[in-house]
Amino acid sequence: MNCPYCSGSDTRVVNSRPADEGTAIRRRRECVSCGRRFTTYERAQFEALMVIKRSGRREAFNPDKLLGKLSIACNKRPVNEKQLREFAYGFEDEIQAPEIASEEIGVRALKFLKSVDDVAYIRFLSVYRDFDSVDRFIEEITRLSELPPKK
Ligand SMILES: [Zn+2]
Repeated sequence: MNCPYCSGSDTRVVNSRPADEGTAIRRRRECVSCGRRFTTYERAQFEALMVIKRSGRREAFNPDKLLGKLSIACNKRPVNEKQLREFAYGFEDEIQAPEIASEEIGVRALKFLKSVDDVAYIRFLSVYRDFDSVDRFIEEITRLSELPPKK
């Protein structure tokens, strides 16, 4: 199991405990190279966080896909790649549910981008929401700008 942050192959287990009523083992791991922690689950057969698409179709959550979208939004912006990886690969950990609507992923990604870079945030917003007019777009930015300010 390589570290999702630095790809280091040397990780140690910090703790293990049963999860999901005993159908899984949740392990906290710490990377020996970079010191960051992440979680792995061991299961008999399945199963990742499921994403419910707008169409109603379900697919397994793919952190690489999320990272890809974030990277596009952050292209040539002064955003630390590590922060993006942290968000994308820590995402599944944050969601304490077996499934999530794709809209909810978008909203969480927006909140995250809002906290790191305004331009990336607006780029992501314009792609993520299918605005039918400039007014709608501005309305949405105004609404979302009421989110907590940068840390
Ligand atoms: Zn690492």
